[in-house]
Amino acid sequence: MVGAGVIGLTTGIRLLEAGADVRILAAELTADTTSAAATGMAGPVFHGPDPRTVGWELATTRELKTLDETAGVRMATGLGASTAAMGAAPPFADASALVRPATGDEVPTGFTSGLWMRVPLVDIPVYLEYLVGRFTANGGVIEQRRVESLALDAPIVVNCAGVGARRLAADPSVRPIKGQQVVVENPGLDGFFMAVTLEHEYASYHTFGRHVLLGGVTLEGSWDPAPSMEVGNRILERCVKLEPKFANARVLGHRAGLRPGRPKVRLEAETVGRNRIVHNYGHGGSGVLQSWGCAQETAELALAL
Ligand SMILES: Cc1cc2nc3c(=O)[nH]c(=O)nc-3n(C[C@H](O)[C@H](O)[C@H](O)COP(=O)(O)OP(=O)(O)OC[C@H]3O[C@@H](n4cnc5c(N)ncnc54)[C@H](O)[C@@H]3O)c2cc1C
Repeated sequence: MVGAGVIGLTTGIRLLEAGADVRILAAELTADTTSAAATGMAGPVFHGPDPRTVGWELATTRELKTLDETAGVRMATGLGASTAAMGAAPPFADASALVRPATGDEVPTGFTSGLWMRVPLVDIPVYLEYLVGRFTANGGVIEQRRVESLALDAPIVVNCAGVGARRLAADPSVRPIKGQQVVVENPGLDGFFMAVTLEHEYASYHTFGRHVLLGGVTLEGSWDPAPSMEVGNRILERCVKLEPKFANARVLGHRAGLRPGRPKVRLEAETVGRNRIVHNYGHGGSGVLQSWGCAQETAELALAL
């Protein structure tokens, strides 16, 4: 396999569970991947145009609900607030994620409506460590190595290279969508808030006990994975405007990563020479949410189950 992000690890776990011997080659080890910069919001699942996506996402939320805080997973309630341009939310595919519409005084200034939602929220550093532990405890091996080609010396090659698939799979439809978060000390908040908007810079916060992740950013086309201080300052400004308690919150750090943007996820098998290659990449801003469903389908394709 190529890739030790959330997609590679969950896929590797499913392959091991199906009886395969699995070795992951990864240029960046898990803590340095895009996955390590994710917020970790796994839901809500909406009905959309691609039925495969809904199935993948529902499979992930089912799996996450079997885990608990020892794996970094908890259920959290928060508000998604829309601007006029967004209109109504699409229908929920998982009715249990909808708590209730927000009342007028619960919707912050600048937003027109809101929904209270309850979804799995994943504390990413804890969760990724749990996944690495589960993968290696089942006999999986992770080797830090950049590969230049998918023509590897293995009967089955699984490509979970995230944004790296642009080069590795010669797929020009993969493009980076940079995201960034500021990590601050929790000034006493619970749950989460996210703006549902078409803007590329918006306000969001997700609480994780003692710390809070402040976002959000979707900058298309940047290949620089490092956090930008200007972007970080704008995130802080927006979040303080939304929630004045953040004004005095100590900044603990910055996280950034390149979401693997693609018009749709590539999950399919192909035969190249003597290799059976199964691709599982291009999850954009939903890789955590789609991971377990995609992992199962990829393992089935790889092993022709
Ligand atoms: C700020 C931010 C917030 C986000 N929030 C959420 C969220 O709340 N919910 C959600 O579902 N998603 C979220 N996402 C999206 C999510 O992080 C991604 O969809 C997901 O991490 C993609 O995982 P991946 O395993 O495909 O890629 P990555 O995590 O990038 O892993 C790719 C792996 O492939 C390896 N690789 C690539 N090329 C090569 C090569 N040539 N040789 C060897 N190894 C190679 C890399 O080194 C790495 O190990 C967020 C993303 C960002 C940036």
